[in-house]
Amino acid sequence: MSKFIFITGGVVSALGKGIATASMGFLLKRRGYNVIPLKFDPYLNVDPGTMSPFQHGEVFVTDDGAETDLDLGHYERFLDISLSRKNNVTAGQIYYTIIENEREGKYLGKTVQVVPHLTDEIKRRVLLLEEDGADVVLAEIGGTVGDIESLPFLEAARQLRLERGFDNVIFVHLTLVPYIKAAGELKTKPTQHSVMKLREIGLQPDVLISRSEIPLTEDVRRKIALFSNLPERNVIEAQDVDFIYKIPIVFYNQGLDRIILERLNLAVMPIKMDDWIDFVNAYDSRKEEVTLCITGKYVELRDSYKSIIEAFNHAQSHTKIKVNMKFIDAEEIEEKSPQMLLSDCDGILVPGGFGKRGIEGKIRAIQYARENKVPFFGICLGMQLATIEYARNVAGLDRANSTEFDPDTPHPVITILPDKANIRKLGGTLRKGAYVAKLKEDSLAYRIYGKEEISERHRHRYEFNPGYMKILEDKGLVLSGLSPDKKLVEIIELKDHPYFIGVQFHPEFKSRPLSPHPIFVEFVKAMRKYHGYKD
Ligand code: GLN
Repeated sequence: MSKFIFITGGVVSALGKGIATASMGFLLKRRGYNVIPLKFDPYLNVDPGTMSPFQHGEVFVTDDGAETDLDLGHYERFLDISLSRKNNVTAGQIYYTIIENEREGKYLGKTVQVVPHLTDEIKRRVLLLEEDGADVVLAEIGGTVGDIESLPFLEAARQLRLERGFDNVIFVHLTLVPYIKAAGELKTKPTQHSVMKLREIGLQPDVLISRSEIPLTEDVRRKIALFSNLPERNVIEAQDVDFIYKIPIVFYNQGLDRIILERLNLAVMPIKMDDWIDFVNAYDSRKEEVTLCITGKYVELRDSYKSIIEAFNHAQSHTKIKVNMKFIDAEEIEEKSPQMLLSDCDGILVPGGFGKRGIEGKIRAIQYARENKVPFFGICLGMQLATIEYARNVAGLDRANSTEFDPDTPHPVITILPDKANIRKLGGTLRKGAYVAKLKEDSLAYRIYGKEEISERHRHRYEFNPGYMKILEDKGLVLSGLSPDKKLVEIIELKDHPYFIGVQFHPEFKSRPLSPHPIFVEFVKAMRKYHGYKD
């Protein structure tokens, strides 16, 4: 039988509930328990795949090709496990199942209702993870308490506590304790109201985590505890940190894992986290600095590039090199010269993306990186654009393009392939999830990975056109990673360049704090060298 922890949030969104959940999961895992996380998203989309990154942030892709909430990325990184579509459930999926069941006549003439049908389906999704052998299921409920959409999820959690008992189901509530500068005071009122709201629907929190800019005073902690009906030690403070991987340590120092385990009647087994502390300390001891330029479309919203930023964080700690990330609007490169905007870059990254806007600017940035031997790393769209740049400017294929941007291009070096192998499964036309690639010996890719066969996650519609493989290879482009049947190009690189690599997949999804992704690590090292640091 599993134990269940439900995590809710109050006052405002974007408090870092996902990171708090992941950090709790980390500590419980390090205490020896099999922790399986679950994110409930109360919106009615079936998955975030069709939402704009401006709305939703990054779409995180799992091995099984599910398009999920970016919190799954945090869970994978903190817990060092690979998740699947079972670990992210949206209200859209719940309603979809209910309506399908209803049409199939599964409700035997009954009126279909929020309680019990919807709540039963929500509980069923939680219990699937119990079947998978979880000691502890960590279920984070998206949104803020008080939202109309999240009510059925909270109600299902309440029911589960009733069914499984007080010692088997607990509630952790995360709120904001704002600091009012003018008054020089921390304010507990929003937290009080948020807890009131929870209790109104029958949920008494067992632990309260308070996000605040400054440490909670004893007075404030006492007040929060009193109004939340909790012992003082169950009020945990989560002060802002400069590196999210410090949060588990912050929680540990306040005994959060112990409080949870005791409350759930689970043995408090010894914990070891020296490796994690070393990882965090290494980040704090970065000395040399490099400048990474990221050309993108969603430059205003860093959440769109969450996993990429985290992969660089892992690499920074690993190399002890500080990577200053500079986001550059690709459209600006179209207007101004690349020299003007890119001359201080020690490396250029073109990340994934969809749609035409800014692509010519990105192509110019790639040309600049190629010609000036600036370390370059292209991810998904970035790899496709590097192919286009090479085709146009080196192979002389005038107006080469992707059919995504120019359906009438005379040289469709990137295009949609007939889906004979039926790899673009599940409704969409995208290739999603983990695929194996074989690397060419003697290539940069092979040196980076140190092995011949790799598996990486994809999310794209267009592919390198096999009709141009030979043409571009003859002109010197190195196709260093191919699908096992040799039909799909997964990695391209250049010969006479210190570090130029484009990958059709998204390596950022598989980087973990203690096992940073080698393409990122080697890219950071190449930037260091380009910057002129001595060995
Ligand atoms: N737009 C491109 C495609 O669909 C690239 C997608 C991406 O970068 N994820 O293939």
